[in-house]
Amino acid sequence: MNQAGGRPLIAGNWKMNGLRADGLALAQAIRAGARGLRADLLICPPATLLAPVGEALAGSAIALGGQDCHADRPGAHTGDIAAVMLADLGCRYVILGHCERRAGHGETDEMVRAKAVSALAVGLIAIVCLGETEAQRDRGEALDVVARQLTGSLPENASAANTVVAYEPVWAIGTGRVPSSGDILAVHAHLRRALAGRFKDAAGIRLLYGGSVKPGNAGEILALADVDGALVGGASLKAEDFLAIARAGAEQSWP
Ligand code: PEP
Repeated sequence: MNQAGGRPLIAGNWKMNGLRADGLALAQAIRAGARGLRADLLICPPATLLAPVGEALAGSAIALGGQDCHADRPGAHTGDIAAVMLADLGCRYVILGHCERRAGHGETDEMVRAKAVSALAVGLIAIVCLGETEAQRDRGEALDVVARQLTGSLPENASAANTVVAYEPVWAIGTGRVPSSGDILAVHAHLRRALAGRFKDAAGIRLLYGGSVKPGNAGEILALADVDGALVGGASLKAEDFLAIARAGAEQSWP
């Protein structure tokens, strides 16, 4: 936990999961269990569920977020969603540059940065994801890779108020494998230093860890220096697991 973060941010990325009934039930269960928790919670459902989940969360402290947005203003982009459309639905956050989009949709750092520019322009907080592949890690390139992604993906006007960085090693996502605490520490410290070289309020930019965070490992991960929260995939689809991770984070929050 980084002192500037105060409370951890625990973000659930539902990915392409959830039909209306189970998505609503999940959102309601998280809402009911989250009362009084000293953690900032965020739910990022698929686009089809943004409106109903947003209604289910209305009046609660749980934020709503999108999983991607287009870099352009509204217009002729079939199947895409403009940042302003997310904001219009009540989203406060948008996940950008997730490795499933970098790999599955060919998103480059430059494209991620263009999306972040659009998101920031309409008042959304961008959660910019980065992380090395297993081959890159094996070659000892992890720190260089994440620093390069950070440089390329963050816009010049990124700040603690409008940007969150999520370190998600590609090989840890959905695999049940997690880097050692020492490795997470090293990457987060490296990212913090890189941010400090470029942004005045770098100490306040939240750094999330993502990749197979579960109730069983959340306490250890969220206690690490410079880990200001978690981006949670699979475990965010079970209210009890997501809430247990949030409780583990809340135990680390500063008074
Ligand atoms: C993710 O996809 O952002 C993620 C962290 O997934 P999981 O928690 O399932 O590894």
